[in-house]
Amino acid sequence: MDTCRVPEVPRMIYPKAQLLKPTRTDVLVTTPWLAPIIWDGTFDSAILDMQFRNTTIGLTVFAIKKYVVFLKLFLETAEKYFMVGHKVIYYIFTDRPADIPHVPLQEGRQVVVLKVRNYTRWQDVCLHRMEMISNFSEQRFLHEVDYLVCLDVDMKFSDHVGVEILSSLFGTLHPGFFAADRQAFTYERRPLSQAYIPRDEGDFYYIGAFFGGSVLEVHRLTKACHQAMMVDKANHIEAVWHDESHLNKYLLYHKPTKVLSPEYLWDERMLRRPPFVRKLRYVAVPKNHQAIRN
Ligand code: UDP
Ligand code: MN
Repeated sequence: MDTCRVPEVPRMIYPKAQLLKPTRTDVLVTTPWLAPIIWDGTFDSAILDMQFRNTTIGLTVFAIKKYVVFLKLFLETAEKYFMVGHKVIYYIFTDRPADIPHVPLQEGRQVVVLKVRNYTRWQDVCLHRMEMISNFSEQRFLHEVDYLVCLDVDMKFSDHVGVEILSSLFGTLHPGFFAADRQAFTYERRPLSQAYIPRDEGDFYYIGAFFGGSVLEVHRLTKACHQAMMVDKANHIEAVWHDESHLNKYLLYHKPTKVLSPEYLWDERMLRRPPFVRKLRYVAVPKNHQAIRN
């Protein structure tokens, strides 16, 4: 969708918004820079689906080495919950194209397998995602899709994830830090790193496993993060949480236009769901870190 234009919608019947009855009073629904924070109850999918009806969404996901095992459940649940009714291209970055499972897709949806190199260290696999997304944005994504949604593969969808997330640039709140003070955020704290954030700065702690935006903005973000990582490498330093640290630095100084609540990324093994998190839309699949990474 051309985000510079006012979206046109045809005549529709839907409940009227009530100015004196806020949809949520238990959680923050806008950032101090007036970006919506997306929670259950704050949006009407019927209106949004109409606004975004001519939009194509690219989903990027990496399945390098043993991580191909996560693809089947990821794709099956995405077909059930992710952007249902919209045009979707799944871009699967892998070094093992032969191991990509065949999952039946709804109309208007397709899988594109992008063969890429692997790296020995799992940290390098994570870090180089930014470079690969950046390169493919220029080569392909700009011509093929309107928005990019960049996700981890060791996850499954368990409830609606739709066009309410789409905006020029969006990040997702890390479910382990939504209530934490900024001093407690696990930002990179060594000034030598390009990902450094001082203790008296910071809005949120965003998770590396779910971000996106228009192709143009995702290209800017991934290119900037990749360049920052290259500078770090030359200085023999690697940010504490790898690509996530660089993402947090970028989103501090390039404010996202939407922020996704922890509904959009949860880990049931690590966290007890508080009542204000009404839906779990995209959740971690248990994994044995040692076995899967080596
Ligand atoms: N990844 C991969 N192969 C690897 C390591 C990582 O494909 O050997 C990709 C995969 O998409 C994964 C993401 O990088 O979801 C981030 O790694 P991981 O999920 O292990 O990090 P965590 O969520 O545990 O921080
Ligand atoms: Mn993960």
